[in-house]
Amino acid sequence: MNEELRALPEEDAERRRIVKALSEIGFCLPGSIGDERTRCGKPNCRCKSDPPVLHGPYHHWTRKIDGKTVGRYLSDYQLDCYGSWFEQAKRIRILLAELETLSLRIVERIEGWDPQSPPTGHHLRNTDEHPPANPSRQRNKR
Ligand SMILES: [Zn+2]
Repeated sequence: MNEELRALPEEDAERRRIVKALSEIGFCLPGSIGDERTRCGKPNCRCKSDPPVLHGPYHHWTRKIDGKTVGRYLSDYQLDCYGSWFEQAKRIRILLAELETLSLRIVERIEGWDPQSPPTGHHLRNTDEHPPANPSRQRNKR
C-alpha cells in the first residue's frame, strides 16, 4: 500500500490530526435527546387546567432500531451521566466527515478529477463529459 506516500505532507498531517482526535473519543450513544412536556391521565391535574401546566420536561432519548424509532426517558441524573456520550457520537460523525472530505480531495488531486459538487439532482450523472479523465496517469498505476 502506498496511499501514505501519495498524500502531501500537509495532507498527511491533517489526517494525523483527525485520527488523533478520533482516538480520544469516549463512549458514544446513538440517537438524540429531546425535551418533552406531557399531559397525564388524571382528570383534575394541573396539566388539564387553562392554561395547562404540562409535566416535565422529560428527557426523551429516541433512536432507530431496524428502521423503527424507539424511545426511553432519562432522569436528570441519567442525562448528567450520559449526555456527553451523545456529544461524542456527534463528534465522531463530524471527524469522519472531515476525514472523508480530506481523502476525497487527495484522490481528486492525484487522479486529476474535477471536484464533484454534492448531488443536487440526477441530471449531473448523465452529463459526464469526459469519462476517462486522465488515461496517461492510469497506465502508470500498477
Ligand atoms: Zn397531569
